[in-house]
Amino acid sequence: MQSSPEFRNKKRLGQNFLRDERILDGIVRRAALEPSDSVLEVGAGQGVLTKALLSSGCRHVHSVEIDRRLEPFLAPLEAAFPGRVTILWGDVLKIALGALDPRPTKVVANIPYNITTPLLWRLLEELPGTGYYLLMVQKEAADRIIAPSRTKERYPLGVTLEIMGTSRSVLKVPPTAFRPVAKVESRVIEIALSGRYGALPRDGVWREMLREAFSQRRKKLLNNMRRRWPTLPWEGMLEGARVDGNARAEELTGEQWLALWELMRARGQ
Ligand code: SAH
Repeated sequence: MQSSPEFRNKKRLGQNFLRDERILDGIVRRAALEPSDSVLEVGAGQGVLTKALLSSGCRHVHSVEIDRRLEPFLAPLEAAFPGRVTILWGDVLKIALGALDPRPTKVVANIPYNITTPLLWRLLEELPGTGYYLLMVQKEAADRIIAPSRTKERYPLGVTLEIMGTSRSVLKVPPTAFRPVAKVESRVIEIALSGRYGALPRDGVWREMLREAFSQRRKKLLNNMRRRWPTLPWEGMLEGARVDGNARAEELTGEQWLALWELMRARGQ
């Protein structure tokens, strides 16, 4: 598919289209789609990945795209793969993903980088039954998503994903793989959810606990928690969760966060 000369890429929408056939091939092979799989793609762009996914023989592809100017590239896919592809025009952060039919079994996408974190939270919230994501993201976002405890990249989404399954980087992608050539390094990350703790992303206490704890990450966790929940006995609770009283949020393991969350719930939060 050629980029038409009159198409002006919008930086604001993260429009860097994948051009490297080997990377495209690597993504499709890694996704290992079965004829029973339905895929959700976020940010169809000019449809290169959409087409590759459809050609690999999955059952259905739902592809979300916000920019109507891409219609000349995407409408032909609906004609070429009748009944197997749905283009959803709109903002992926607003579309009701839970209503998609057939339900997505996998999310495979080169996503708009500027919405990586809110998009992942939304996918976890709206598609609790979807256990596999293969996503192209900016390298720095990949680093944060897979960051273990005791690293400065650790953040709430990464903590939650650690508990829910495994996340890893499976492919390095250079800026030259895109047109226009990207300004940043990219990674393809694979997230496989175990099915345990599927309700965590929708749990208000869990989300607020992590948000408060990491809001001033250089400060002691104890002080951050005390400021938000002054009546809870934090010293005893940290001890109960086997957390050092001087610890900062980035030092806790997933297990310790779970223990702290249980203690908050036990106290009526
Ligand atoms: N997957 C394509 C395009 C990647 S660029 C490829 O690999 O070539 C990211 C795409 O996401 C762009 O087409 C952009 O228009 C779209 N996009 C940006 N923000 C969006 C949003 N909030 N909802 C849906 N699509 C969005």
